[in-house]
Amino acid sequence: MNIVEIFESIQGEGPDTGKRTLFIRTARCNLRCIWCDTKYSWNNGVTYHVDELVKIIEKYKASDISITGGEPLLQKSELVKLLKLIDKKKDIKTVLIETNGAIDIRPYLVFRKIKISMDVKCPSSGMTEFNLYDNINLIRKQDVVKFVIKDGVDYNFAKKILDERMIKGEVIFQPVYGADLRTIAENIIKDKLNVRFMVQMHKYIWGDEKGH
Ligand code: SF4
Repeated sequence: MNIVEIFESIQGEGPDTGKRTLFIRTARCNLRCIWCDTKYSWNNGVTYHVDELVKIIEKYKASDISITGGEPLLQKSELVKLLKLIDKKKDIKTVLIETNGAIDIRPYLVFRKIKISMDVKCPSSGMTEFNLYDNINLIRKQDVVKFVIKDGVDYNFAKKILDERMIKGEVIFQPVYGADLRTIAENIIKDKLNVRFMVQMHKYIWGDEKGH
């Protein structure tokens, strides 16, 4: 697989926030979100054989793994091979696959340990036209749908999707770093939305430092 970085950190977002996690950040992305905070992942990285990745996972004694990007689902055949190997490892509890929501998630739903964290891109990203809305219907109870919210336009966009669709997994509203947290929080309460509002904890610990 083509990988930009592998590092250990504390999970700063999503359903497993706070857990020590091994991050495998894949190279390349099919989107270009305006506020992307990992632009360095758009380029090619270093190629690893999946067996090498499994050895690295073992070396870190990682029980929680996040495969993020870039966009991991661009490397479908290698990713499936890696997930097959990981699925057999009894020391690994969960593998979170973070995807941008623009690629079919079906090939990954067969693996026991996989949780999907899928974005639905809001207007401030400049990428809403790439949302694959059929993916939302595939989201299971253990998966997560994430809206990254910058302002009122994004908030109303996300709210409209929630009004129109039944989402089985948890819904997370995650503010863009520096967004007006209080307004978003108060709107969630006023509108009685059943979502989880979460800031990116790692940004409060390490700021924009790479590798966290
Ligand atoms: S999908 Fe993720 S990695 Fe790709 S451009 Fe958007 S924020 Fe960046």
